[in-house]
Amino acid sequence: MAKVIAIANQKGGVGKTTTAVNLGACLGTLGKKVLLIDIDPQGNASSGLGFNRMEVERCIYDVIINGLPLKSVIQETRVENLHLVPATIQLAGAEIELVAAISREMKLKKALSPEKENYDYVIIDSPPSLGLLTINALTAADSLIIPIQCEYYALEGLGQLMNTIQLVQKHLNPRLQLEGVLLTMFDARTNLSIQVVDEVKSFFKNKVFRTIIPRNVRLSEAPSHGLPVIMYDPKCRGSEVYFELAKEVIENG
Ligand code: ADP
Ligand code: MG
Repeated sequence: MAKVIAIANQKGGVGKTTTAVNLGACLGTLGKKVLLIDIDPQGNASSGLGFNRMEVERCIYDVIINGLPLKSVIQETRVENLHLVPATIQLAGAEIELVAAISREMKLKKALSPEKENYDYVIIDSPPSLGLLTINALTAADSLIIPIQCEYYALEGLGQLMNTIQLVQKHLNPRLQLEGVLLTMFDARTNLSIQVVDEVKSFFKNKVFRTIIPRNVRLSEAPSHGLPVIMYDPKCRGSEVYFELAKEVIENG
């Protein structure tokens, strides 16, 4: 049975999609069967794996709103063992359409349930908000990874995120656990980066991944080639650290 991991933080640009794509690709390359679900209307995880949003015919919207089986929208990717459920801009409407739906927070969880036996890991890339799409991700998940960018205002908004997680645990998904906080875009040359690492570690203690993701230009270039970094430049630092992260996730059990 798959472990379902949501990647969430309502801040944009903190490395959610980069982590979803590259963690997924590394887990796949390490022999795990992985399903990556893109539930961000921006569809960056989909385009980062070479799926052009204009060419995607059916996406997660059809599953969440129209009740299509998840299986019917799963696509193979160029990465071994990595399958994708793509998102398109059509999904932007779902946030509002879900409001009036019955068991609106459970749509993804229900759709995912028959597929869980086919994978070792399901990774969900969430949008930069705490709306119903992110709530669906947290409700479907066994655990979550919170990426935090080593920048100014890194900790801003975390209180709100933790509140949302507690509400989900209380009312929708008592099993939800924190897989780990992931420090991203670390720059060893700046005191600020070092300061953020210290602050995050003193707050989240042993819930911070040992692996810290540095700023790496290859990581930012790879998506425009529609490839995870391990296929774009297997030897770069970005590839190494996402492999380290994948091994840590496997260790966590
Ligand atoms: P989010 O999904 O949280 O909005 P992204 O993963 O899309 O964040 O990252 C935001 C931007 O930063 C993207 O352009 C991405 O390519 C870039 N980026 C992410 N992680 C790194 C990194 N470790 N080093 C350099 N650039 C990065
Ligand atoms: Mg994103």
